[in-house]
Amino acid sequence: MSRYVVLFGPPGAGKGTQAARLKDALGVPHISTGDMFRDHKKRQTALGQQVDAILARGDLVPDSVTNDMVDERLGRPDVAPGALLDGYPRNVAQAQELDRMLEARGRRLGDVVVIEVPDDELKARLKKRGLDSGRADDQDDATIQNRLETYVAQSAPCVAFYAGSGRRVHRIPGLGTPDEVTARIVAALGL
Ligand code: ADP
Repeated sequence: MSRYVVLFGPPGAGKGTQAARLKDALGVPHISTGDMFRDHKKRQTALGQQVDAILARGDLVPDSVTNDMVDERLGRPDVAPGALLDGYPRNVAQAQELDRMLEARGRRLGDVVVIEVPDDELKARLKKRGLDSGRADDQDDATIQNRLETYVAQSAPCVAFYAGSGRRVHRIPGLGTPDEVTARIVAALGL
């Protein structure tokens, strides 16, 4: 039985931190579309050049581009046992496309983990990450604001979509230490 889990939540909720801890417990690879785009940027591929300005503004990369990149990733053999998806889907059209991509491979998404963190805390975390990591989209207030607004307008509706389509939706409080949050998710997923 394969296990596909979506790790969902606003920018700064701690998805990447939690994914790194959970992938071993789940025994599946971590697929982060943000990391994939940043890697393309670093390697200066055609895709990296295409998405550079979009990432800098904090807008969503067009669905066609993102979906194709994910589809290619889901076609690789290491994903057969399942995957922990982080940063994808980010709108309902992507969520529907993910269902199609998995169904085409005879697989199904089972769990959605929603990490919930208040807005003020998100802004503080993103600014801190910008200082610590040098990540450009975490250093600009307008970009941070745009990403938070994009999450509310485009990404948050995915939660209702998943609740309405029979997935297990786990709402996890994202405040506290990373260990505390991991423990909540581990318990919710029954790992
Ligand atoms: P965060 O969750 O902190 O915003 P990510 O690393 O997940 O950071 O994403 C960084 C940027 O990559 C996003 O602001 C967006 O421009 C782009 N991106 C990542 N995932 C997607 C996606 N599924 N669809 C469209 N754009 C995406």
